[in-house]
Amino acid sequence: MERVVIIGSGCAGLTAALYTARANLRPLVLTGTQPGGLLTTTTAVENYPGFPEGIDGYELMTRLQKQAERFGARVKFGSVEAADLSRQPFGLTVDGEPVAAEAIIIATGASHRHLGLASEHKLENKGVTYCATCDGALPVFREKPLVVVGGGDSACEEAMYLTRFGSVVWLVHRRDSLRASKIMAERALAQAKIKPIWDSVVTEVLGEKQDKVTGVRLKNVKTGTESAVECAGVFVAIGHVPNTQLFKGILDMDESGYIIPRRGAATNVPGVFVAGDCADRVYRQAVTAAGQGCAAAIEAERYLAAGTGKRGHQ
Ligand SMILES: Cc1cc2nc3c(=O)[nH]c(=O)nc-3n(C[C@H](O)[C@H](O)[C@H](O)COP(=O)(O)OP(=O)(O)OC[C@H]3O[C@@H](n4cnc5c(N)ncnc54)[C@H](O)[C@@H]3O)c2cc1C
Repeated sequence: MERVVIIGSGCAGLTAALYTARANLRPLVLTGTQPGGLLTTTTAVENYPGFPEGIDGYELMTRLQKQAERFGARVKFGSVEAADLSRQPFGLTVDGEPVAAEAIIIATGASHRHLGLASEHKLENKGVTYCATCDGALPVFREKPLVVVGGGDSACEEAMYLTRFGSVVWLVHRRDSLRASKIMAERALAQAKIKPIWDSVVTEVLGEKQDKVTGVRLKNVKTGTESAVECAGVFVAIGHVPNTQLFKGILDMDESGYIIPRRGAATNVPGVFVAGDCADRVYRQAVTAAGQGCAAAIEAERYLAAGTGKRGHQ
């Protein structure tokens, strides 16, 4: 029987592990298929506090894991396949094996929607990115033409943010008007540097030979006409999918599947807490995920100290 199981080993999960370990709870952290989480996929993290020169994402997460392990966290490679949160102790199925826990912290993150192109995959981190706040300021994008794909609020926000760095920001959208809220769309289109390309989809990211993005090939969905646009970066902003399918129908979620936290990090099931991008459709940053991991750990510790888990729910 585990006192606390943390599902996910990204910034949220490992920070929760650090705090619960320091509270002597010997947390069990289940890594999922991506140990260290999303940040391990990037080389340059320049906005995590305390690293004035920036830090490699993989190294940051390795250090965070070591820090949690130093206080007794146990990090185990494994994915949760099923969860029974209807009674205490909670029951999890981890790669076919049962695990019982008094408290659970869910930190399963959110996946970016991809365009689904082979060239996009090959040029990921070589000019193709999914986060303007994270990567927009990198030198490779400075004073260069950039492409944002998408038409929602996120795409508009990303495009506006990128006007600080790029020479021009092409906003490629499959429809003839933005899906974003009116105010956001108006703001974006009022920016001289943002140039919309309507009714168009990206069919290929160019630059495989050069091993860096050099442009995109576009197709107009109404006329079928193909064209190419030169750019140094492609920012894909077509949405996120929170990794919360396991808890559908059990935990309160919004229409997109983000878990809705109550009173900070609690959920509608006492003893189950949530942290990071799986419950955050707004900020989605390493430091906010880490902060929420800390909050979830403190909540779990208080819940266990009150003995509610052992007595079972009323
Ligand atoms: C390319 C890239 C660059 C980025 N750069 C920055 C940056 O510079 N600065 C910044 O602040 N943010 C950056 N971000 C965003 C940042 O990575 C995320 O906000 C952060 O990782 C969220 O942390 P998280 O712990 O909530 O989720 P994640 O890091 O996504 O971790 C989720 C964890 O849950 C696990 N998991 C999922 N399902 C299961 C399951 N069923 N069972 C067990 N485990 C499971 C996964 O394996 C993973 O370990 C970047 C993101 C990307 C993709």
